[in-house]
Amino acid sequence: MTPGEPALRQDAGGRNRASAAERAAAGLSIVMPVYNEAGGLAALHARIVGVARALKARWGLACEVVYVDDGSRDRSLAIASTLPADGLDVQVIALSRNFGKEAALLAGLEHARLGAVLFMDSDGQHPPAMVERLAGHWIDDGYDVIYTAKAHRKAESFLRRSFGRAFYTLINWGSRHKIPEDAGDFRLLSPRAASALRQLPERNRFFKGLASWIGFRQLRIDYEPAAREHGTSSWNFGALLGLSIEGLTAFSVAPLRIASLLGLLLAATALLFGVYILTEVLVFGTDVPGYPSLVVGLMVIGGVQLIMIGVMGEYIAKILSETKGRPVYFVAEHSLTRATSDAAAA
Ligand code: UDP
Ligand code: MG
Repeated sequence: MTPGEPALRQDAGGRNRASAAERAAAGLSIVMPVYNEAGGLAALHARIVGVARALKARWGLACEVVYVDDGSRDRSLAIASTLPADGLDVQVIALSRNFGKEAALLAGLEHARLGAVLFMDSDGQHPPAMVERLAGHWIDDGYDVIYTAKAHRKAESFLRRSFGRAFYTLINWGSRHKIPEDAGDFRLLSPRAASALRQLPERNRFFKGLASWIGFRQLRIDYEPAAREHGTSSWNFGALLGLSIEGLTAFSVAPLRIASLLGLLLAATALLFGVYILTEVLVFGTDVPGYPSLVVGLMVIGGVQLIMIGVMGEYIAKILSETKGRPVYFVAEHSLTRATSDAAAA
């Protein structure tokens, strides 16, 4: 060790102990969107309590859990309100109606009171047992965004997988910043990453994209998602399509570029076809039967134009919704229960 270097900063493994302690001092908010999850919520909370206890024991990390009830129609809110604040603070935020998962995540992010933020589904598919590992990469290794990706998607239908692949190809096409494929919403953000995410002003949110767009030190972890324990996934094809269009228009102008390319292609084809017809008439003197080719040409151009007007409409709709500047969600109820039995947990 060179003289003058603080002895505190290194342990035997050469790791940065002092700053790990500094990081842990920021605390961790676990944000969970809840939509009709009454069946498994209490059991999940019990596991979270266990995780919080382990984090406390290992790093002295204080935790809170933020349940954002996204207008559930079952007893989710009632159940969330009775969960014990056993060694960690419990916040329950009830949105005024169902605003969708992205809005619920934003509500959680904005209400999180501790430094680091972890997003986690409340259906048990994101294993609480992994939280300690994610936290370790933040506290010990200093990563800012630790995101998880499904190790494989065998469980999903062929259609959904192809749809997913097409989506990421399109969204990353020609863009300087690539959004990682298969990354889920299960991710941990360091305090500076969380605050960066809070600064993004857009109302149409696509968290996977934004969390990767902000940069900082990112780390990917592959994991095996658990099967859903209760209820069914609230994503149907329509909802998924909506989110995809959301993500695409927020992150990529690929659809517009495809429009331009298609236009060019059509124009070139038309030009060639024109030259061909002219040669037929002028050189060979053939009487060109015009009707079928005219109809085909008209229909192709008409169809392409309609599609592209639709694509442009998506972007204009996005501009409209951003300029309206409406809040993303409204909070109907908000409660905070402070941790009990902290001494027992420590
Ligand atoms: N969710 C939500 N609002 C919605 C739909 C879902 O807050 O409108 C929550 C849901 O409670 C769960 C998470 O988002 O915690 C993921 O939902 P789901 O399991 O249905 O999606 P999947 O796992 O199939 O992607
Ligand atoms: Mg799920």
